[in-house]
Amino acid sequence: MSKRPPMHQARKRFGQNFLHDAGIIRRIIRSIAPHESDHMVEIGPGLGALTEELLDEAGALDAIELDRDLPPILRSKFFSYGDKFRIFEQDAMKFDFESLREDERPLRVVGNLPYNISTQLIFHLLHHSNCILDMHFMLQKEVVDRMAAGPGENNYGRLGIMTQYWCKVEKLFEVPPESFNPAPKVDSAIVRLTPYTTLPAEAKDIKMLETVVRTSFTMRRKTLRNNLKPLLSGDELSELGIDPSLRPERLSLPEFVTISDYLSEKKPASEEAESA
Ligand code: SAM
Repeated sequence: MSKRPPMHQARKRFGQNFLHDAGIIRRIIRSIAPHESDHMVEIGPGLGALTEELLDEAGALDAIELDRDLPPILRSKFFSYGDKFRIFEQDAMKFDFESLREDERPLRVVGNLPYNISTQLIFHLLHHSNCILDMHFMLQKEVVDRMAAGPGENNYGRLGIMTQYWCKVEKLFEVPPESFNPAPKVDSAIVRLTPYTTLPAEAKDIKMLETVVRTSFTMRRKTLRNNLKPLLSGDELSELGIDPSLRPERLSLPEFVTISDYLSEKKPASEEAESA
């Protein structure tokens, strides 16, 4: 059963793959479980496949859509919802999500995201996560698997560590290509991201943690001693209680934070000499 009106041609450059599978749409809405007290934000509503169901349940919904051909269609479709529905014709990558907050209610963010910008967009949101209660996204399955992976797993790396730094990650279910029009070339999955109110392993300097994680995974198959040579020695790693002969995928998030905090506190050699 197709929900897509015929007047809009899907555009590749906006990553448009419209959901049309009613069963999958219902399952997504059930997972989100919108409530009348919720302030929802939908990124990329497209032709409104999820929007309509969300509007029926939630207290208010703000939508952010880049393709300027779509808002007029959505405005007329959802006219009867009045002020409950607002649409912003903007790029979600540059959008100030905090500006949407009107009261103490944190935002519940949802989106079937364009795959080419999904990870960048999620990191943009995670840096503003103090105003967000939770996020439900449709992403490329492989990206969800990397986000949810733990130490020792093949696909554990920078994306999973930095996502899990900010929030709890739950892979909910997979969605096949036939659920979309046009069908994408890859499988998709729904993920729930719940930002922590208190970070379980907070780094003194987030930029340093990002550098440590990126440098640790320069060569996946090499040891920490080799990859981290530009930042600290194998002996320093041992002193921190971390085996320098391990591969980066063996390390947990708190261990990466330990290395990062050590480097944040370590004075550059020139400063050491001055204070001696
Ligand atoms: N939510 C609809 C659905 O499930 O059928 C559409 C999903 S489609 C995969 C992605 C949507 O995001 C499109 O409507 C596209 O125009 C929009 N989009 C693409 N880039 C965007 C951006 N940078 N900011 C906001 N919306 C964007």
